[in-house]
Amino acid sequence: MNGLLLLEYAPWMLGFTVVFFTACLVRVWCQPEPGKRRPPSAIDLVLQANHRFAQAPASREMSPRPSRRLAVVTCMDCRLPVEPMLGLHAGEAHILRNAGGIVTEDTLRSLILSQHVLGTREVILIGHTDCGLSKFKDDELLANLERKTGHKVPPRFCFHAFADLEKNLRQQIGTVKSHPWIDRRVIVRGFICDVHTGKLSEVREEGPASRAG
Ligand code: ZN
Repeated sequence: MNGLLLLEYAPWMLGFTVVFFTACLVRVWCQPEPGKRRPPSAIDLVLQANHRFAQAPASREMSPRPSRRLAVVTCMDCRLPVEPMLGLHAGEAHILRNAGGIVTEDTLRSLILSQHVLGTREVILIGHTDCGLSKFKDDELLANLERKTGHKVPPRFCFHAFADLEKNLRQQIGTVKSHPWIDRRVIVRGFICDVHTGKLSEVREEGPASRAG
């Protein structure tokens, strides 16, 4: 009887054994050689950091209204560690960054919300030395991208490259102050950060139209 059972199940057992060993072999063959494993991507690394961060009981009870009632507009340049540079912590200020720290329509959208919905009353704009946007001309880069991608420049698209750092910063201050939805009582000041020292120097507005600050 036992012999008959064995004969009946033998094909199944053989099949299972073949599948099992094939799977093992595939797994071994597909393993990268030691020392050739894919290095973790930047996102993998920040996810690891986030895992550690989320273990600590951080200030989960913070208000979404910045406690210093401050909004910072600055460049995305990775050499500007905005929070330590300004002595700011989570929950204290809105930090708006883009290439060049340009006051674009989208920056204005955020500033208007920051002030009218979330109560900020001061804006600090920070440009910086050695800014990438002062190293090319819009026309050249746009033409380059057209050639490289084979696609035309989208309507109204520009990078806001500039030649004069101070002049550009004054323009950005003017753009904030002249928007009809920016409260006239809000303080708006502009500074240039030296990327080598981290020191801020104020850029004063020209002309009699100066407002607070
Ligand atoms: Zn920059």
